[in-house]
Amino acid sequence: MVIPSLIERKRDGGTLTPAEWRALVEAYTAGNVPDYQMSALLMAVVWRGLAAEELAALTDAMLESGDRLRFEGWATPRVDKHSTGGVGDKVSLILAPLVATCGVAVPMMSGRGLGHTGGTIDKLESIPGFRTALSLREAEALVRQNGVAMLSPSPEVTPADRKLYALRDVSGTVPAIPLITASILSKKLAEGLTGLVLDVKTGSGAFIPELNRSLELARTMIETAHRHGVPTVALVTAMDRPLGRACGNALEIEECINAFQGHGPADLMEVTYALGVEMLLVAGVEKDPAKARHRLEKGMQDGSAAKKFATMIEAQGGDPRILEDPGLLPQAAMVEVWRAPKKGTVLQVEPKRVGYGVIELGGGRSKVEDPVDPGVGFVISARPGDKAEAGEPLASIFAKDQAGIEAGMRCLSEAITIGSGKPILLPLISHRVTIAGVEELG
Ligand code: URA
Repeated sequence: MVIPSLIERKRDGGTLTPAEWRALVEAYTAGNVPDYQMSALLMAVVWRGLAAEELAALTDAMLESGDRLRFEGWATPRVDKHSTGGVGDKVSLILAPLVATCGVAVPMMSGRGLGHTGGTIDKLESIPGFRTALSLREAEALVRQNGVAMLSPSPEVTPADRKLYALRDVSGTVPAIPLITASILSKKLAEGLTGLVLDVKTGSGAFIPELNRSLELARTMIETAHRHGVPTVALVTAMDRPLGRACGNALEIEECINAFQGHGPADLMEVTYALGVEMLLVAGVEKDPAKARHRLEKGMQDGSAAKKFATMIEAQGGDPRILEDPGLLPQAAMVEVWRAPKKGTVLQVEPKRVGYGVIELGGGRSKVEDPVDPGVGFVISARPGDKAEAGEPLASIFAKDQAGIEAGMRCLSEAITIGSGKPILLPLISHRVTIAGVEELG
């Protein structure tokens, strides 16, 4: 394998064979291809893209670079939901236990906060004692026993992605649809799934804000997953405002607890149910979306989802008493109310600014090694379209000190726009994408 000739071929718009992709990923993971050559090749992929066969081969090579969850001989369907990342997106925390009450196993490997977005693993780790660093064998046993486990990708899973992602991060090659697809799918395929549901975010707070590119990402991921024998469906959902009210790790867990008690914000519940319906359909345990929805709503109302959440927390070393007493979650030292600076209509709550605000408060990372303060963040009750009086409380800031309160005040003043007229908002759930094509909803 002559690496410069592979780089040149890709640079000039040619394709690499599946065998070449396999050899390249193997050699790079083993440390036999230098970063400068790999980053040149990645940049060629950013410009030239990948043919479907190349993408399948790259995904496969990344998957094969490590170990995976194994459920051979187990007939229970296994479905995960993956979000491309958002602000206030705590859907997984409700959905995983809820779907597990419907005869579908959910082996969910999630990430930490990335850029301005929060991560499911950071949120879970705000639960006292909760362990996300499960070994693959331990996770398999918990999924078989409880129907659900939520874990961080262990070092044995897709080491090629770990290395490539770190290189992409510093070489300007993250936002490329084929590279994102191979990175996400190699990890999802390592979960031993029988089906996958994607929540592809669109709008200013999404990594890929433009709708046409969000749809392209959805289609590419669906086609690649199907090639690997995993039926996949995507919903395109709005990330031009935060989802729900809470943004910040422990605050989001508390919002989920409220949801289990029947008090979840309407937008959060709508997205959760819509994705849950797709999970039950792709798992094959329901054929009719209305019946699937009813089953999920019942699971929330009769307490079985909350019970499953408590079982999962306990099985992973956490304190399930947080469900009765959210005061056991980490608390911020200071809380301050943010008030409307003038009378008008809430025109915008800018999610990216809010996401970066959580990081400024200490609730996310600027550098990989930064510790995360689980108690800080925002609860924003103002929704675009709401009317507000001057001085009306629209949000709360949870901070560790006065400097944090001041940073939070600045953040909300920049993120929340009050004026006259009507907000321009994306539909909460705008498209359903399947292997058959794109369906515009509502
Ligand atoms: N998340 C991933 O895991 N990989 C990407 O490339 C982008 C988002």
